[in-house]
Order: sequence, then structure tokens, then C-alpha cells
Amino acid sequence: MRLPRLTLVIAAHNEEQALPLLQPRLLAVLAQLEAVDGRILYVDDGSTDATWSILSAFVAADARVGALRLSRNFGKEAALTAGLDQVRTGAAMILDADGQDPPELIPQFVAYWQQGYDNVYGTRLARAGESWTKRTTATLFYRVIGRLSRTPIPADTGDFRLLSPRALQALAGMRERHRFLKGLFSWVGFRRIALPYQREARIAGSSKFSLWRLWNFALEGITSFSTVPLRAATYLGLLTAALAFVFAVLVVLKAALYGDRVAGWPTMMTVILFLGGVQLIALGLIGEYLGRLYEESKQRPLYLVDTCIATDMADSFLQPTLGGQADDHGTRTVGRQVS
Ligand code: UDP
Ligand code: MG
Repeated sequence: MRLPRLTLVIAAHNEEQALPLLQPRLLAVLAQLEAVDGRILYVDDGSTDATWSILSAFVAADARVGALRLSRNFGKEAALTAGLDQVRTGAAMILDADGQDPPELIPQFVAYWQQGYDNVYGTRLARAGESWTKRTTATLFYRVIGRLSRTPIPADTGDFRLLSPRALQALAGMRERHRFLKGLFSWVGFRRIALPYQREARIAGSSKFSLWRLWNFALEGITSFSTVPLRAATYLGLLTAALAFVFAVLVVLKAALYGDRVAGWPTMMTVILFLGGVQLIALGLIGEYLGRLYEESKQRPLYLVDTCIATDMADSFLQPTLGGQADDHGTRTVGRQVS
């Protein structure tokens, strides 16, 4: 009897310090899992350190491990997409390479999957080892996007989750370039359940996300899942127009009653500067969306695979894909292929 397959998908960017600590924990968990056929797929997201040679050694040492190397750094969302695209059979489980998502919890995720859940997502109870700014900005972000997005996005939820085969298939159909995975996972729907856990501190190395990168990530999230900001510009415009109208009436009345003595330089400047500001903000907002539309219209692949190595997984992965279309898996080959 063939057991259902579970592939752990792990994106790694310059994780040479964390990976050797993570791998034994993963293997220990796989040994515990009796009801599933566990595999590990690493995605090297354009690392410049020893990450790839470490991953190659993992693959050589264990037939259940595969590794994919992207042609450059495409960012975590694209790297995870590359990994998930390779999972053709069974479920997938996403983890961070830095041990912040404890692998020891995987059996609990699997138990929910066996109960029929499609999307088992870890929600963070605590965030150990993260700075005050990171925690507050994260909370703020989840509140804002929670209000703006029409697809409810659970708060304090990262990418740590298990996706059933049909959830994966649905996800594979969404090829938008600006990917906000947390939102896409929620958009898919199906049977969902939260699994609360304590988020641990990074086991080694340092975070790859600076405050600026997080800000851009937040913008990505909001613009991919909400058009409320565009509408906000309209309302802001209406409001200023209404105020301007009232002001105009006052000015005319004042001139009629008291005559016009060429005063009002400060008011004039205030109005001009204020309106100029409002117009620029509105233009900028439109620009944000227009820019994304432009990116989407180019229809570029989401990632490029450089090398793919795996010994025992020919049926599920091994074909480097261009990542362009969901349905062209394996029809075009880029780079070297080792099996
Ligand atoms: N990561 C990646 N590509 C990137 C940046 C990060 O694949 O361009 C991976 C990284 O190796 C880690 C995960 O994404 O496995 C989360 O990154 P990190 O721990 O730096 O983020 P944080 O936990 O601080 O938000
Ligand atoms: Mg981390």
C-alpha cells in the first residue's frame, strides 16, 4: 500500500548556518511520521554562501531529499512557489529554513490533514527573539489588511502551513507576479483550521527581511488584496472639493460685505499646497496599481530554475520548469538536470 505523500517545502536564502541545524530535526520528524511518505524539498533562492553545497550534500545523503536552485534571488514568495510547483503528488508543508517554525509540530498538521482539512495554518502565539518594532509593525499590518481586504486574512499567520493536494492545485492556477502568498492561501478557501504555536527565535544566521523590505511586503499585500486605497483617493478628493466650495462661498460673501482688500496670501498658499499634496498622493496611489498592472501584463515567468537535484522523486519533481504557466510543467527545461 502506498502511503500519502507529504513534501516539506523550504525556501532558503543564505542559510548556511541554520540548515545543518534544521536538517537533523526534519529527518527525526520524518522518522516519526508513520502514516505518510515524507519528503523534503529545498529551494535555494539565489544564495551567495555555501547553502547550495550544503543542500547538495543533503540530497546525496538521503534519497528523500531534493533541492532546487533558482537562477538568482527571486524572493521568498517566488521561491516557495517554485517549490510548491514541483509537488505533483500529495500534500505540501511550508517551513522556514531558520527553525522559527518548529518541525516537531508537523505531526499535528498531518493529523488535521488526515481529518480532512485542506489548509492547516500555524498562528503565532508568541514571537520569541523578535524586536519590539517588528512585533508592533506586524500587528499593525495584520489589522490594516484585515480591514481592507475582502478576503479575510488570518492575523499572525505566516507561511507555516500544510496544504492538501486540491489546495495546492488551486494555488498552482494563480500565476500573478505580485504574490502575496498569505492572501492567496486564504483566497483558495476549502476547509481551514488554525494551529496555534509558539514561534521560536531563529536558530542561526540573521533575518533576511529589513524594515524597508517589510514595508514593501506590506504594500504588496495591501495592493494585491484591496482596491480600497484607490477609492480612498476619490473620497479625499470629494471632501476637499466640498471644503473648497464652502470656502469659495465664504470668500465671495466676505468680498461682497467688506470689499476686497487683497488679503489672503496665507490662505491661498495653504489651499494650493494642500491641494497639490492631495493630488500627488492620489496620483501616487494610481501609480502603485498601474505599475503592478504593467508588471502583470509582461507575463514573465515567476522564477527560473537553474538546477534541480533529487534521487528518488522522479515522479513528483525533477523537471525544472520555467514557472510561467501552471500547465507547462516539465515541458521546457532550463539549466542542468541531475538525477
Ligand atoms: N528567504 C528566501 N528568500 C529571500 C529571503 C528569505 O527564501 O529573499 C527565506 C529565508 O531563508 C527563510 C525564510 O525565507 O527560510 C524567512 O526569512 P527570514 O527568517 O529572514 O524572515 P523573518 O523570519 O525574519 O521574517
Ligand atoms: Mg525567520
